[in-house]
Amino acid sequence: MPGRNSAAPPLLQGDEVWLNLGVAIDLTCLGTSDAFGSVGRHNAGYLVETGATKLLLDAGPSILASMKGQGRAPDEIDAVVISHLHGDHFAGIPFLLLEFTYQSRRQRPLEIIGPPGTEERVYTLYQTLYSERRGEAPPFPIRFTEVRDRSVIEVADARIESFHVPHQEAELSLGHRVVAGGTSLVYSGDTPWTDDLIRQSSGTDLFLCECSAFDSDVPRHVRYVELERNRKRLECEELLLVHIGSEVRQRAKEIELPLADDGMKKTVG
Ligand SMILES: [Zn+2]
Repeated sequence: MPGRNSAAPPLLQGDEVWLNLGVAIDLTCLGTSDAFGSVGRHNAGYLVETGATKLLLDAGPSILASMKGQGRAPDEIDAVVISHLHGDHFAGIPFLLLEFTYQSRRQRPLEIIGPPGTEERVYTLYQTLYSERRGEAPPFPIRFTEVRDRSVIEVADARIESFHVPHQEAELSLGHRVVAGGTSLVYSGDTPWTDDLIRQSSGTDLFLCECSAFDSDVPRHVRYVELERNRKRLECEELLLVHIGSEVRQRAKEIELPLADDGMKKTVG
């Protein structure tokens, strides 16, 4: 993996230049398993803290237990950024809404950012799980923003650039790049291996790439052997494997790339 200056970040436009303003990004891995809670790890959830905001990248169903287990207050979150509308990535949102309504009594706004359909799916799920809430808005403002391939939005000092990944056909799956100052991380979401991951992660400080299987054929997900085959082509500073299935954990001794784990913390930039 050569240096970060080997290629411009793919979504920056024109002559725009990001100066490194000394912004560090702190990452806390809250859930690093695949959809199956493999080897007892939580479903997807990554707390990303910049100087001025706290983002939750994906919110698997046990996100509350995971945050509290890490000694983190769920109400710290300013925005939830969803990669795609599979349960292991967004089904924790109703429990966040419940927490904010009854426990932390949140008043400040919550942003929820995700692919088209996010607002409808979140409310449908919330009202399915808690039918008493039907027709009632939570007692704090929620702002939904639907993003697509190449969408760019800003939350405080964080810029979120979304890109399509070919995990689903009927619905849109996204990866996200979070940029703060001159620091960035890229999250693949769920995706099969595609050379586009090389382009999307080029120049980033940290690439969180899903790795659901070692060498078994798991449709529409990355296998470790594919990452191993392509690792020298990646142009990120650092690679961290996430969304880890049981086969990958069981064969960890054969793996030369770093595996994320629940509770792992990293600072980049
Ligand atoms: Zn998943």
